[in-house]
Amino acid sequence: MKLLLVYTGGTIGMVQSPEGDLSPFNFDEVLRQVPELNQLECDIETIQAWEPLDSSDINHNHWIKLADILNNNRDQYDGFVILHGTDTMAYTASALSFMLNNFSKPIILTGSQLPIGVLRSDGRENLITSIELAMARKNDETAIIKEVAVYFENKLFRGNRVYKRSSQDFEAFSSPNYPVLANVGVHIDINKQHTLAPVESYFCKNNLDPSVGILTLFPGIDEEISRALVLESKRNAIILHTYGSGNVPKLNWLPSLLDEAHEKGVMIINASQCRMGGVSQPAYASSRILRNSNVLSAGDMTLEATITKTMWLLGHGKRGKAFRELFLDDLAGERTL
Ligand code: ASP
Repeated sequence: MKLLLVYTGGTIGMVQSPEGDLSPFNFDEVLRQVPELNQLECDIETIQAWEPLDSSDINHNHWIKLADILNNNRDQYDGFVILHGTDTMAYTASALSFMLNNFSKPIILTGSQLPIGVLRSDGRENLITSIELAMARKNDETAIIKEVAVYFENKLFRGNRVYKRSSQDFEAFSSPNYPVLANVGVHIDINKQHTLAPVESYFCKNNLDPSVGILTLFPGIDEEISRALVLESKRNAIILHTYGSGNVPKLNWLPSLLDEAHEKGVMIINASQCRMGGVSQPAYASSRILRNSNVLSAGDMTLEATITKTMWLLGHGKRGKAFRELFLDDLAGERTL
């Protein structure tokens, strides 16, 4: 079995700089810290995607590059593990799940909260188990995990269902609206019924349009800042980051602002500030103004999946009805219909 280990940076490979903060270091050092990799029954080849980065420096252009690397190597390898910083791992995982639709081979992102060279690092276990999960096979030798996933602290999650929940706990990720794909203890327990079973054929479409704005509502928000973002910034899509099950305050300027934006072709999305549950549009009278066909519900998608799905749809020229249909559909296991 052949596996490609892709290094992008992140805490896992960081060392302390002379200034006392953490900065990315080279890949050979990471590998030197995990000699156990030689004991695994697979050929592991490695590639560094770019000069190692703190993942807070990663943007849509890196996702396009990463999708190219995975697409170009898809036939040569049985699985892929990506070492990535935790800060934007959920975004990268989500973006890849749309760009590499029905990839049908394991792509597992992992990293760590402590650098791999540190005695109590969580990096070693995260890396070794990610590789084991990428190697997991059914009796007929086909892969069990056939999707983009995130492995962290004993749990495997669907990549487009996670968000970073803690900057301090080893348990850095959570997937509030979708069950874990695997629990790791003495045994590796894969919840096969929750894994993605791609049926359609694979495609790589990796254009992204980052012209997206997020208007986070808060008590006291005013028209000026809202207008600047929704209209004057000339975004192709605006995500309204609303309360609870998708609620907005009764502000007399808001409906007309949204109508104006819609008339200019801006896609408008309703995404909840609640990580668990998401938007259920008909719930409260206070969401009534968003209940017209011009506002698309993000449902139970994570904000990370909502943003990257929007960039991906815009990147492939989808607007109006075409955008609407695909956005409301479940394309890669990212939303419950
Ligand atoms: N700032 C780091 C990064 O995202 C944090 C981490 O890896 O845990 O690259």
